[in-house]
Order: sequence, then structure tokens, then C-alpha cells
Amino acid sequence: MVGNHNSGRKKTQNSENTRMGKKTLYIKQELNHNTGKWIDDPVFQWFKRHHGAQWQTQVREYMREDVEHYKRTSFWQCKCPNVGLLGNYVPNRMPKCHICGSWKNKISKLRNMGI
Ligand SMILES: [Zn+2]
Repeated sequence: MVGNHNSGRKKTQNSENTRMGKKTLYIKQELNHNTGKWIDDPVFQWFKRHHGAQWQTQVREYMREDVEHYKRTSFWQCKCPNVGLLGNYVPNRMPKCHICGSWKNKISKLRNMGI
């Protein structure tokens, strides 16, 4: 874009420490043989029709909800400091944190006595 050296980087919501970084999302397209033009997947067209200019906000919201659900259903939190990306989230398949020694729950502890 002419005159826009920050193309793809939104001015809004930015501060000294945060900004919007551009990511590429591929959408299926089909060739319309009558017009010779590539047409976006109808699901994507409907999604934009539903959410208008807020469609990217909605994608981010779905992503946030999915991650919350994933963390809630597939992990438990041990007593380690909750820092970094994974923080103190331990996968459910691990009944015990081998760093801080805390157990997922009492049943896991009883079942795995001696480990
Ligand atoms: Zn831990």
C-alpha cells in the first residue's frame, strides 16, 4: 500500500509494549469459470456476513475460548510458579509434577504411591 509503511500492523490497540502482528490465514477459493474470478469459500463469506468488520475479532475470540477449554480439560495446575507460556500447567497424563512434587489430586497420589 502506497504511503503505508506499517501495512498489516494496526494502529489501534497498540502501545509501547503491544502491537497487532500480521498472521496469514489461508481460505479455500474456487474458480468461477464464467467470470474467471476466484471466489472465497462460502463458509468464509457467511462468517464475514455474520460478523462484518469484526470477523477478525471473532476469530481471536474463538481462539481464546478454545485455548481456555484446552487448558481446562487437558491440564492441571501444580504449585510451580506460573511463569512462561506453559506456566504451571501439567498435562493430565502426568499425575505428578516432578519439579515441585505436587499431585494432580488425591486419587492420583493414592494410585501412584511409590512413584
Ligand atoms: Zn510443579
